[in-house]
Amino acid sequence: MSSITVLSGGMGGARFLQGLLHGLAAHRMPFPQDTAVTVVANTADDIWVHGLKVCPDLDTVMYTLGDGIDLDRGWGRRDETWSVKDELATYGVEPTWFGLGDRDIATHLVRTQMLEAGYPLSDVTQALCRRWQPGVTLLPMSDDRVETHVAIADADSPSGKRVIHFQEYWVRLRAEVPAEKLVFVGLDQSSPAPGVVAAITGADLVILPPSNPVVSVGTILGVPGIREALHETDAPVVGLSPIVGNTHVRGMAEQMLTSIGVEVSAAGVAGHYGARSRGGVLDGWLVDDADADQVARVESLGIACRAVPLMMTSPDATATMAATAAELVR
Ligand code: GDP
Ligand code: CA
Repeated sequence: MSSITVLSGGMGGARFLQGLLHGLAAHRMPFPQDTAVTVVANTADDIWVHGLKVCPDLDTVMYTLGDGIDLDRGWGRRDETWSVKDELATYGVEPTWFGLGDRDIATHLVRTQMLEAGYPLSDVTQALCRRWQPGVTLLPMSDDRVETHVAIADADSPSGKRVIHFQEYWVRLRAEVPAEKLVFVGLDQSSPAPGVVAAITGADLVILPPSNPVVSVGTILGVPGIREALHETDAPVVGLSPIVGNTHVRGMAEQMLTSIGVEVSAAGVAGHYGARSRGGVLDGWLVDDADADQVARVESLGIACRAVPLMMTSPDATATMAATAAELVR
């Protein structure tokens, strides 16, 4: 059976996957309809809140593909209520800024209970997916605890800096202050979750969807062994730019790229990933029509490149992007 492996963050990745599955089902991909899709999801956004283990990217993928997502928000459960959050606020316990819906909490309770009983996150994810039937094999990048932290300026601190969890930077501060430094706690010591390396080395195609290149795909690539698997695989590796017209479509990729010194452009991200033939991870890269003038620059890096519409406005539009990506590196 054919297989496609996707290295995904939350919202951008989930939306892409929706289009990819639609494209496969509708025979729009240069792959058979029954192609198996494996998703390796970022877990460096994970956070413990109120004693619960929350995995935002895993859940966004699971809820989106399982048709349980709140479409307007793009995260969390549809028809959500917030009684627990309101009660916690009444007690005055922090963090008050993190969105925990009542329905969503059930997922975190099941996950936390299983983790505390000794199951690894990959087994827990599989158990949660038995309910959601996302139509893909969903794997965390690692079973180990990895957390992205962000250093920001803080005049009240003796060092002039304060380090906060990525979720606090994103949700509470809305990424409105510069990220001076990113710290990926635990990443160097982590190992890929069971099945991750095999999903890459055994794939017929590996896709880097339009996910955050630093705090989603970047952290997945940072798990020791995953980059090596991408070098080793016979499958072509193709990516779709999350940067359109020199900014992110939504989210905070711009702030994250700036903090690691990468030019905020489709070609900048391609250069950051690098050509697989030159020690990087990409064989092909799709940029948006708006960035057509960057195609030659990407090609000069040793990466096949094409400009096409890259706005994921519907599963149909996204399916076209996925098919073009696959054809680019076929
Ligand atoms: P997160 O974990 O929810 O931040 O989601 P991801 O890391 O998967 O994706 C976020 C990235 O997706 C952002 O950098 C956006 O620029 C990008 N993105 C979101 N929607 C689109 C779209 O329609 N087209 C493209 N090309 N990129 C998008
Ligand atoms: Ca994320």
